[in-house]
Amino acid sequence: VRSDAVVLFGVTGDLVSKKLFPALYELTRRNRLDVPVIGVARSPWDDQQLVTTARKSVFEANDEIDDETFDALAGNLSMISGDYADPVTYQRLAERLRGAERPIFYLAIPPAVFGSVVEGLAAAGLAERGRVIVEKPFGRDLESSHELDRTLRAAFDPERVFRIDHYLGKEAVEGLYAFRFANRLFEPLWNSEHIDNIQVTLAEGFGTQGRAGFYDTVGATRDVLQNHILQVVALIGMEPPVADTTDAFREAEVAVLRQIEPLSPESTVRGQYVGYRDEPGVRPDSNTETFVATRLTVNSRRWAGVPFYLRTGKSLPGTATEVVVEFKQPQRSLVRAEGGAAVTANLLRFRLGRGDGITMSIQAKSPGAEVASRPVDLSVDFGAALGHRQEAYERLLDDAMDGHHLRFAREETIQQEWRIVEPILDLAAPVQPYDKGSWGPADADALADGWHTPQLR
Ligand code: NAP
Repeated sequence: VRSDAVVLFGVTGDLVSKKLFPALYELTRRNRLDVPVIGVARSPWDDQQLVTTARKSVFEANDEIDDETFDALAGNLSMISGDYADPVTYQRLAERLRGAERPIFYLAIPPAVFGSVVEGLAAAGLAERGRVIVEKPFGRDLESSHELDRTLRAAFDPERVFRIDHYLGKEAVEGLYAFRFANRLFEPLWNSEHIDNIQVTLAEGFGTQGRAGFYDTVGATRDVLQNHILQVVALIGMEPPVADTTDAFREAEVAVLRQIEPLSPESTVRGQYVGYRDEPGVRPDSNTETFVATRLTVNSRRWAGVPFYLRTGKSLPGTATEVVVEFKQPQRSLVRAEGGAAVTANLLRFRLGRGDGITMSIQAKSPGAEVASRPVDLSVDFGAALGHRQEAYERLLDDAMDGHHLRFAREETIQQEWRIVEPILDLAAPVQPYDKGSWGPADADALADGWHTPQLR
């Protein structure tokens, strides 16, 4: 049954403005949404204020608004302001949801308030028939993620819980799956016999963007390594699912995570950009990492001896999310590079962020008498080749409203991710300083045998 009402807790917040209003607008435009959308927050907003904010956020995301579409969305919007500890808030919500068979509740609120909202919904009898969407962070470590699971499970059947890692909603990230399993060309090579190493870089060319106080309690490992980067690793590293079903996909995803060794502090470099401690809200002696690089081991037959190098950071030279698969040298070197050196390895470069696409670096014969080669690129830009793709939140909301679990993480997926990062959380060793606009501390360079610089945007 498709959800027949959407409730946004924390409707006054950043996530709703940046992502959810634009997603609701797109769904309305595609005739996928014509149900009540109820905003809930403590701020004393009225319906008009909600509509005004929604319009502004849709405009910022699109630079234009189709009035007919927006009016249709606005006609469905309404506001409830109240305290999350007060049963009256939920009674008013229940009143407004009368007649809705399968409402969906989006918890766009700080995790500290998840518990009281879930309890409030349950006490008002709304949890039994509702679905719930939660976002990262799923706790701060393995133990607190269990606690979150218990909180959710006490009120919602697991079939009605949707955990968003929005990376899995990105078309480009899902494209890794299609690339591997819809092409005959590469999957036979997708193993330690042919692949030398795999690198995942999630680089941000900006700092904490005014949210340093919040960031200081989180850091790079919790913010993106535990979730987005491991999500990408799972897609690259997973075995072919046994069937093309949601269950089989999710099982294959968690199966590869189970085979990953916990990260080790010795193979991890944590950095902090110079100037971070001067930002408002940051402790002057903060040891929070704004950069982390690490080596990950997948203990499977397929990946025996193939290191996965992972890195992410703020204030790096630019913004990019890339996976680089570096192949081994040819078994026998019959052709040399110009000048007689060994040829450089074939690379497959998946660009997952803006300007997404794939670049394959291959060797081609260099011009002239000499039988030598040099690298050239075969490249596709998905925007140009495929046209408009949907935004992650648009797809995820649409899926969750239909009760489709394919693009949402299972409980165990999140737990495995915490198990993997746990040994490098809150390390006492001081973070290493790095200059803004650099690729992190020098020790990170030494971690991988040659990082490939991403194509920056
Ligand atoms: P936010 O802007 O900091 O907070 C959302 C709303 O929650 C606020 O507008 C506020 O509304 C309410 N709130 C704040 N503190 C509260 C408290 N102590 N008790 C009750 N309500 C409180 O958060 P956000 O960035 O929108 O993120 C929402 C959720 O999504 C969080 O769990 C966050 O971790 C997750 N998330 C966000 C992003 C993003 O891009 N922003 C990305 C991934 C995940 P009122 O004061 O009006 O009630």
